[in-house]
Amino acid sequence: AKRQQRAGIVLFNQQQADELSRQQVVEEALATADLAQELSLAFQPIIDVQTGRVAGFEALARWTSPQLGRVSPGEFIPVAEQSGRITLITRMLLDKALAVAATWPKDVYLSFNLSSHDLASSDGMLRLLASVEAGAVDPSRINFEITETAVMYDFEQTRSSIQMLRHLGAGVSLDDFGTGYSSLSHIHRLPLTRIKIDRSFVSNIQSLQSSMKIVRSVLTLCFEMDLDTVVEGVETDQELFTVEALGARFVQGFHFSAPISAEETLPAIARLWCQ
Ligand code: C2E
Ligand code: CA
Ligand code: CA
Ligand code: CA
Repeated sequence: AKRQQRAGIVLFNQQQADELSRQQVVEEALATADLAQELSLAFQPIIDVQTGRVAGFEALARWTSPQLGRVSPGEFIPVAEQSGRITLITRMLLDKALAVAATWPKDVYLSFNLSSHDLASSDGMLRLLASVEAGAVDPSRINFEITETAVMYDFEQTRSSIQMLRHLGAGVSLDDFGTGYSSLSHIHRLPLTRIKIDRSFVSNIQSLQSSMKIVRSVLTLCFEMDLDTVVEGVETDQELFTVEALGARFVQGFHFSAPISAEETLPAIARLWCQ
């Protein structure tokens, strides 16, 4: 038993060492990456289930490194935040996303993810606002997604950054709602326009009374507070059926579509997605 335990400890340390070196490898590749060349965006449709139409698209970062191949944003975004490269990445991605969104009909919106670091600096925010104003998309068609961890970072600064975005005319969503701390206090104290209900509340919702109750309560609360909602991570017929029955109108997830390329967005808009 003792030997096993020791082996377990060694394994654990080895795993930590592997993670650390992988992080360093990603960091080095990112530091020398030709971002203009290697970064791209995928777009995932957000469907209005009342009309069966695309309401908007969420832009999702993609990185193909010559050395590492495809690296997921879940892996490289945190590394970029640590190294500070996120500021440049966000600006480049926003320009790309705006150029694609400019080709869409005026009633289709763009949802764009900001990181905590983007929100943490007023100068950085001013530069992002300038990009929006220079772009061909009316700010009222842009929705910025922020996570609860971003809010935790520096509440007052985040609030003033959100106010800057609202002042411009853009919407602001709280992403991954329910997974962070003090979610309710955030919707009470920040000038948000939309809540994205995290997919952890949606998987197997049809068989989980507690998930169903949470989603129903959040939808009711948002309705009362005049906030739009998007239900994320809907994968199956049953999940869609259940969240629709609970009153959800805007839905995103593999059930409708995985993220698609920029070229595929216009055909997706032309399609009827339900009924
Ligand atoms: P997120 O903002 O919560 O984005 C949704 C993620 O869920 C995406 O993963 C999407 O592909 C995935 N997804 C969508 N529908 C389903 C579904 O039905 N089932 C499951 N299992 N997954 C689904 P992705 O593209 O790998 O992005 C992961 C995270 O990386 C994002 O989570 C976001 O936090 C971050 N991220 C992505 N792009 C950007 C970006 O441009 N800027 C920043 N700051 N963060 C980004
Ligand atoms: Ca998001
Ligand atoms: Ca999310
Ligand atoms: Ca997430």
